[in-house]
Amino acid sequence: MARMKREEWYNIARDVDWTRSYVDEEAVFPEWLSGSGKVPREAWRSWDEPYKCAYSDYVATQREKEGSVYAVKAALQRSNIFESLDEGWKSTAKVHFGAVSLIEYLAVLAEQRMGRFGLSPAWRNMAVFGALDEIRHTQMDLYLAHEFIAKDPQFDWALKNYHTNCWCAIVGRATFDGMMMNPNVVDIAIQLPFTFETGFTNLQFVALAADALDSGDVNFANMISSTQTDEARHAQQGGPTLEILMQHDPKRAQWMIDKTFWASARLFSLLTGPGMDYYTPLEHRRQSYKEFMEEWIVAEFLRLIEDYGLKKPWYWQEFLAGLETWHHSLHLGVWFWRQTVWMNPQGGVSKAERAWLQKKYPHWEEQWGPIWDTLIQNINAGNMEGTLPETLPWLCNLCHLPIGTAASPNNLRYPVRSYPLTHNGYTYHFCSRPCRQIWWEDKDMLHQKTIIEHLLAGEIQPPDVGGILAWMGLTPEIMGGDAYKYKWAEEYREPAPVAGAEGGSHA
Ligand code: MN
Ligand code: MN
Repeated sequence: MARMKREEWYNIARDVDWTRSYVDEEAVFPEWLSGSGKVPREAWRSWDEPYKCAYSDYVATQREKEGSVYAVKAALQRSNIFESLDEGWKSTAKVHFGAVSLIEYLAVLAEQRMGRFGLSPAWRNMAVFGALDEIRHTQMDLYLAHEFIAKDPQFDWALKNYHTNCWCAIVGRATFDGMMMNPNVVDIAIQLPFTFETGFTNLQFVALAADALDSGDVNFANMISSTQTDEARHAQQGGPTLEILMQHDPKRAQWMIDKTFWASARLFSLLTGPGMDYYTPLEHRRQSYKEFMEEWIVAEFLRLIEDYGLKKPWYWQEFLAGLETWHHSLHLGVWFWRQTVWMNPQGGVSKAERAWLQKKYPHWEEQWGPIWDTLIQNINAGNMEGTLPETLPWLCNLCHLPIGTAASPNNLRYPVRSYPLTHNGYTYHFCSRPCRQIWWEDKDMLHQKTIIEHLLAGEIQPPDVGGILAWMGLTPEIMGGDAYKYKWAEEYREPAPVAGAEGGSHA
């Protein structure tokens, strides 16, 4: 039987929309979910996806991608690749599995919402493929992590993390609920496919794939590269939605992008910055986090938003300054509070590594060197209590990261301080001016308490480090420690005085 060519039926098949005669339009597409706002209903007719894909094409391509990921996994199954991987690299993989696996699943729900409540049938069609993509990503992450649980129980947190009160899970939930669960579908499209997936997922999936391959983790590299091919396709739902929004409500578009860019930048300085600049073995690092951000995020993203007639976000100077400090501060914090994470952070400050950091970040020694020197002295003196916390830092009411991590010591322009705001008689604290402003605009949709607020409300008992760790769900076999058992600190040990070198005065 002769088959029609795709271009002959595609436009009819994707345009499945009709006028309902026995239900109200508002009942089918309620405004609070469809979120058309100032955009008239007819404007959505012009929604046009740049990447045309029919269901038969979709399943054929996806089947091939799946086949290749699982073939490589099967081939490596009996190898001893796990034993040969660097501990620092394993930490990067554990961060990814714990922080990302269930966010892929959250993205299924976000795509399904666009697939149901988007006001263009073509868009709904694309979003259904997006939902199928995200199911695949969740499955790959969980399946690959599962293989290692028998060897290392920390990999169990691929599934467990978001079911706990671990501070990292709270950071992720606050950020991604704001991006995928709270908003209507137009805002989801601007936040998720346009800002987050077009801008930021490259960071996790392209840069990290290169580091994974160099570190010998072929499975991981393969998995995230395969993920990124899907992201690159379904991220294209953002462009056509933004184009329509720019014609009718550019102010709303600018705001959605600004706030999502900020939240994403804060998050990646925790999720990806330490992995790239501290955990990946020195000889396998290709670019610093800052270099990668400048090339892929700053340059690419600015070009993209300017093409749509948008402006740079209002906080641009703070963001650029943050590339020098945020992830260094968060790395230090994660290492110091290492019992509160499901992986073993590597210090990453041997003499050679510090020289690399200083070269990439000319203020590194001045800002972070003295703090690490004190920690190193404590390690070498056997004073381990001096390298561990006695309590928690104050947390930001928006991003839930520690106050002070949007700045650094010895930084006069952005010193370590809180940005408070009193509302209805209650004082909230923020890490930065943008977090405070975003909170103010979105306050009716936000309700996550910080861990400090739980602590002060007496919900964490006993109110000490042990009580906090139990409340977060960290059990002894999971709690992180230094990846190399502090061996990297040995080269800083003062040489012991050689007998006789001081003229025999000890005799
Ligand atoms: Mn995904
Ligand atoms: Mn996605």
